[in-house]
Amino acid sequence: MLLPCFLLIALYSWNGFSQETGEGPFNQLIIRGVTLINGNGAPPQGPMDIVVEGNIITQVKSVGYPGVAIDPSKRPALKPGGRELDLDGFYLLPGFVDMHGHIGGKAQGAEPEYVFRLWMAHGITTVREPSGRGIDFALDLKRKSEKNTIVAPRIEAYTGFGQGSEQTISNPELARAWVRENAGKGADGIKFFGAPPEIMAAALDENRKLGLRSACHHAQLDVARWNVLHSARAGLTSMEHWYGLPEALFTDRTVQDYPLNYNYNNEQHRFEEAGKLWQQAAKPYSEHWNSVMNELIDLNFTLVPTFNIYEASRDLHRARRAEWHEEYTLPSLWVFYQPSKVSHGSYWHFWGTEQEVAWKENYRLWMTFVNEYKNRGGRVCAGSDSGFIFQLYGFAYVRELELLREAGFHPLEVIRAATLNGAEALGMEGEIGTVAVGKKADFVIIDQNPLENLKVLYGTGAIKLTEDNEVVRVGGVRYTIKDGVIYDARALLEEVKEMVSQEKKRLDFTLMQPGIKY
Ligand SMILES: [Zn+2]
Repeated sequence: MLLPCFLLIALYSWNGFSQETGEGPFNQLIIRGVTLINGNGAPPQGPMDIVVEGNIITQVKSVGYPGVAIDPSKRPALKPGGRELDLDGFYLLPGFVDMHGHIGGKAQGAEPEYVFRLWMAHGITTVREPSGRGIDFALDLKRKSEKNTIVAPRIEAYTGFGQGSEQTISNPELARAWVRENAGKGADGIKFFGAPPEIMAAALDENRKLGLRSACHHAQLDVARWNVLHSARAGLTSMEHWYGLPEALFTDRTVQDYPLNYNYNNEQHRFEEAGKLWQQAAKPYSEHWNSVMNELIDLNFTLVPTFNIYEASRDLHRARRAEWHEEYTLPSLWVFYQPSKVSHGSYWHFWGTEQEVAWKENYRLWMTFVNEYKNRGGRVCAGSDSGFIFQLYGFAYVRELELLREAGFHPLEVIRAATLNGAEALGMEGEIGTVAVGKKADFVIIDQNPLENLKVLYGTGAIKLTEDNEVVRVGGVRYTIKDGVIYDARALLEEVKEMVSQEKKRLDFTLMQPGIKY
């Protein structure tokens, strides 16, 4: 820890070694001299002093001008017992919201202690869990996170529709009953994967009446009869990924142009044909394209594109050779990512130039829609869906921000998608999403300007050549603050490295590229 004299709030044990993490909250914490990049689209402003009492922001004050000495008499005063962080030259942003964060599945062997550290080390202070190991598992972690007894972001827990039910939800009455039971358990929402129309309609109606939110991955099995537009009209609050959107944009067909030997349980079929789907939809800026977009915006519908999770489809080499795999990817995750007829998303049975070129065009059309949706006032959020297809927790979220930039977002629009938009989509904009008096003290602090280069947010930093012709790494989040508790992001990454290294030793594991044998 770089910070002296701290209150130890959590001791955690993983594979037999314990870690010290988190400092605070404080009766008063003053973060001095930062440049604020707020999540509301405002340009950077500094130097600013930010005052926090407990977990609440109590003052956000401009204290001078760039390059001019700050008059100490104009700064907020430190109270007895208060804590100061002098962060002249640093940038401060609201904590990031990952709208699509699975806490890790058994198949991936990714336990919460590992996943949470990677998220927190990348400034992610709130996560929407779109179904995982069951609602009880997620709610237990949510409550521990609320008390700050574990290192973890805030958790909004959505249950997979039908999860935990002993019988198939085969009619609207069963759907409504399940939705009520889910709300009763304390879930924050539902994650759908598609269902017959009458069941989707009933479940969404009941869920909306109860005031809960919802997400849907419109899987191909049900999308011919129920696409994104049906969902949005019935009360779904956000769509995940992109499936179901091209189908809402069809004008000269009603089903995807499946080859006749297609089999949904063949992962290469699924992903290869998906890569041709946007080309089957209405052309950008055509009448139908415009009317679908405008209706979704009128319905206050949220898009969570999760661009990054499909990136291996357009550039497999980039995804599998990402430099963080060596030190931060667990052996079990690496094995899970390998081509397989069984693991979900491990679809490159024979993935080559043709598939990648099709997917590049798919991305171009998809990004055009998402960027224009934002331009017309629609809400777009940042979500990662890590733990699949070579995308690693935390790192993949930064990649998602880069891909929003590639889609055409100004970097300030990227930050807003990552902060305020996420808060709004969760109904938490009164508590988080911007740095404002009365909101919770969730911050990302870094010594580089992420607007100039989003890559500085990667835990491995960005590459830079110095004046002296020396190659160095700059950036990496320095501190993540959640609920007024300060976490040293670098220390969290060190802990992850240690977990991975111990696991490799235990298994005598060497990370090898697919198909390479010694
Ligand atoms: Zn997912």
